[in-house]
Amino acid sequence: MANAPDVAGCWIDGRAVFGGGAELALDNPATTDRLGTVRLATESDVDAAVKSARSSFLDWSRAMPSHRSAVLAELARLVKRDADEFAQEEMLQTGKSIRLATEFDVPGSIDNIEFFAGAARNLEGRASAEYSGEHTSSIRREAVGVVGSITPWNYPLQMAVWKAIPALAAGCCVVLKPSELTPLTTLRLARLATEAGLPDGVFNVITGTGPEAGAALAGHPGIDVMTFTGSTPVGRIVMAQAAVNGTRVQLELGGKAPFVVFDDADLEAAIHGAVAGSLINAGQDCTAATRAIVAESLYDAFVDGVAELMLRVVVGDPSDPATDMGSLVSHAHRDRVAAMVARTSARVVCGGRAPELPGAFYSPTLLAEVGEDDEVYRNEIFGPVLTVSKHYGDDDALRRANDTAFGLAASAWTRDVYRAGRASREIAAGCVWINDHIPIISEMPHGGVGASGFGKDMSSYSFEEYLTIKHVMADITGVAEKSWHRTVFAKGSDS
Ligand code: NAD
Repeated sequence: MANAPDVAGCWIDGRAVFGGGAELALDNPATTDRLGTVRLATESDVDAAVKSARSSFLDWSRAMPSHRSAVLAELARLVKRDADEFAQEEMLQTGKSIRLATEFDVPGSIDNIEFFAGAARNLEGRASAEYSGEHTSSIRREAVGVVGSITPWNYPLQMAVWKAIPALAAGCCVVLKPSELTPLTTLRLARLATEAGLPDGVFNVITGTGPEAGAALAGHPGIDVMTFTGSTPVGRIVMAQAAVNGTRVQLELGGKAPFVVFDDADLEAAIHGAVAGSLINAGQDCTAATRAIVAESLYDAFVDGVAELMLRVVVGDPSDPATDMGSLVSHAHRDRVAAMVARTSARVVCGGRAPELPGAFYSPTLLAEVGEDDEVYRNEIFGPVLTVSKHYGDDDALRRANDTAFGLAASAWTRDVYRAGRASREIAAGCVWINDHIPIISEMPHGGVGASGFGKDMSSYSFEEYLTIKHVMADITGVAEKSWHRTVFAKGSDS
């Protein structure tokens, strides 16, 4: 990457293609070094990718599940083979620490591909039966067609995998638009998919801006399902774009996860969980712990403990394995985070500033005594910032946890099984952790409620986004005059 090459930002019909649009520089946000220059996709590049996907659909959707499974298993093997390159590239384009890329992003992606390689062979409908007495009813679950996907910059490889792989496993073809800031690992994934034996046109990538390539994709009449991961406002724009053609939509949007600490919690575990859960990926994680809501009796000790641990987090050169937290994705995003913190009336316990480093860094930040109307409490910050406020009993804690438009993830910290049960039932979110915050697994679904969107990524639940259910009803009587014909010609056809 030293000579800042021209990057072919599109992968269409099984080959690298330069977009027909303007040039965009790709920079390493931690060093400001130039990684390359990408020529952006235009509406006609999007159209070419959709056409290629459409013409590949029939063969891929009719391929035997065992064949689709074998191709995905081979892709997992190739990603494992090239794991170091993936981790390196992910670090360079996002500024995240190499430790996170190596231990979380890349192995998580491989595991997800392996899961769907297996699940591809396990697509089945429910039992068939003679519900009318005169027909056998059965269910076919069929690939929905061409899937358009739009992904964000925070976990570029994992988001591409979460969106594209279940769709491919289900027999769909995909056109995916990565964030224009971070296309490199998605393009590498598409190249390897071709090497793994995926037919040309089944998986296409178009790197372009949201308003141009993203809008062209979401509003394209050749798209059968639009799946989107990103911010809530943009998700709603994408939904409106897709609505023009009546296209199905799945949205994985923002979050503002509550982290509820009850008065019987293991304080040390909660402190460690809060720091790890709020600082993972420099806080640029839609499920990150963002609002600690802590029992009055534990509040002071929690604030002191979190601040002490946050100060021990090593921020700096992402390529150094000793670094805990790298930079944010861009200077513009870092400045947005800094501006939000600068406007708050909460008490800045630690952090609240950018360290003196050339990249887009921001220090781990704890904001205490935060008001319920403060924007740092209400809106997504998407940086290494945790707010903490007191609660006064279980009812108050759960009220505060649900006092948000978002509903992606939450955690409850308690040793009491009944409190844990109540919290898991009453907190409105797609995932509630008990005594932990962040872990995800390929076997279980990920997705939110409310302003966090709808539909699921990961697990066999995600297949619902990519399949249609068809009812096949076959007559078993063999008679010309069926019993229901009486509703049309009551006296019988020969009377
Ligand atoms: P973003 O919404 O700004 O952009 C996401 C994608 O949408 C990008 O590819 C962008 O180019 C595209 N886009 C932007 N404007 C568009 C338009 N007008 N039409 C079509 N596409 C458009 O989000 P981001 O800043 O890249 O990522 C951060 C956001 O993603 C946060 O809100 C975070 O919570 C969310 N996120 C959610 C999940 C989840 O699973 N729920 C996972 C990761 C990130």
